[in-house]
Amino acid sequence: MGDVKKIGIIICDRYRRCAGGKCLRAMQNREGAFTQYAGEEVELVGYTTCEGCPGGNIEYTGEEMVKNGAQVIHLATGLLVGYPPCPYIDTFKDFLEKRYGVQVVLGTHPIPEKYLEMHSQLGTWDEPEWESKLAEVMADEDTRKAYN
Ligand code: SF4
Repeated sequence: MGDVKKIGIIICDRYRRCAGGKCLRAMQNREGAFTQYAGEEVELVGYTTCEGCPGGNIEYTGEEMVKNGAQVIHLATGLLVGYPPCPYIDTFKDFLEKRYGVQVVLGTHPIPEKYLEMHSQLGTWDEPEWESKLAEVMADEDTRKAYN
């Protein structure tokens, strides 16, 4: 048996009641940002929210997840697709990577098609920087619709 990849997931507090349905399904199916783990075993070692703007829990939970062995922390897709997307996402990624030496990935499950449609109308993701930010979770149309 190969090594087990240990991951943590931090969700946007707007979705604090979420039980992780889409994230866990995508992790199980190796879809969205979990495609990179195809053929690998994955273990979830932490799942929590940022604690609300401006993300007071990022520091604590990052430390806790890394102590639990997390090699990768995923900032959940909700941070990218919320209205508006999280304004602190770049800071969270920089901080977690520099402070704890952990890899940070933007996104978890594929973007639901309805969010792509709405953000396309709003022009939210028109700036070129969004292409790389959304790369892990854009998926194909059928997959996006399956996550609506
Ligand atoms: S927008 Fe960002 S800081 Fe605010 S609750 Fe969501 S993830 Fe946390």
